Amino acid sequence: MSNEVAANNSPATIQPVEIQETLDELYNKYRLLQIGQLATYIPELAKVNPELFSICIITVDGQCFKVGDFQQLFTIQSISKVFVYGLALAEHGREQVLAKVGVEPTGDAFNAIILDEKSKRPYNPMVNAGAIAITSLIKGNEPTERLSRMLSMFEGYIGHETTVDMLTFMSERTTGHRNRAMAHLMLNFGMIDEKIDEALDLYFQQCSLAINCLDLAVMAATLSNQGRNPLTHVQAVPSCYIRDILSVIYTCGMYNFAGEWAYKVGLPAKSGVSGGLLIVVPGQMGIGIFSPLLDERGNSVRGVKVSEELSQRFGLHLFDCKKRDVG
Ligand code: GLN
Repeated sequence: MSNEVAANNSPATIQPVEIQETLDELYNKYRLLQIGQLATYIPELAKVNPELFSICIITVDGQCFKVGDFQQLFTIQSISKVFVYGLALAEHGREQVLAKVGVEPTGDAFNAIILDEKSKRPYNPMVNAGAIAITSLIKGNEPTERLSRMLSMFEGYIGHETTVDMLTFMSERTTGHRNRAMAHLMLNFGMIDEKIDEALDLYFQQCSLAINCLDLAVMAATLSNQGRNPLTHVQAVPSCYIRDILSVIYTCGMYNFAGEWAYKVGLPAKSGVSGGLLIVVPGQMGIGIFSPLLDERGNSVRGVKVSEELSQRFGLHLFDCKKRDVG
């Protein structure tokens, strides 16, 4: 840490009081922004209260800042892909996982039905096709054993037990024809094994994990802290895979907005169609934002706005020469 004063006249170190004041201010400012749509293609998500909004930050030394509906449960959706990718890496290692799923951004929507022409691999683990292939790698003899492995992995990041929201799971299971089509396409090319119904069920279950915004911030902070939960000190994923996870979400985590996100916000992040947004400030803090109204790419409208301001105000962009540390 240095005592330098940044050019915008903010001290180089971010003080706790400044963090809480900023969260309160951004919450009050963006609460008024009510644009965007709920995700309706999963019928259960269309029933969510669109007004819900919360922002949470957990630092790597365990300080906690929160505002809004931070106890409200919502389903994690695509943000689960980040953690299941970590589990697959821990179970199989980098080379084996890379042989099944690439690390190339697509520039296409998260649910695009495309595979790499030559290798037949899905482009990356953050689009649906890649995530389903990753989920199919999770070890276990029975579906219950695989689900239980997954739930324990999530517990490591969150610090307490969590459950699958049955209504959302069933809602997606009965309507997820597009994801089913992707799984069949990958089976056709031999990229996943023939137990596709089990893999899809597990994928729908991971997406239906019920968490709140504070949980999301703890999960993000665990990734910021080399895989060690800053509140419980449990190592949720081997630290050697953090660089894999963070580089993939940096380039592919925000769907077909990933380039603009990297340019403007400059942090590894992952969003989900229920309106969650997980942001990792490596070595410093994790940020969780929840607001269910989405833009046309499927990212939370308020979530993106708040992130842009947080990054700018605190100088969080990874390539910002005026980066500040948390005090
Ligand atoms: N469960 C959702 C799906 O497979 C997840 C998508 C998302 O959050 N982007 O379509």
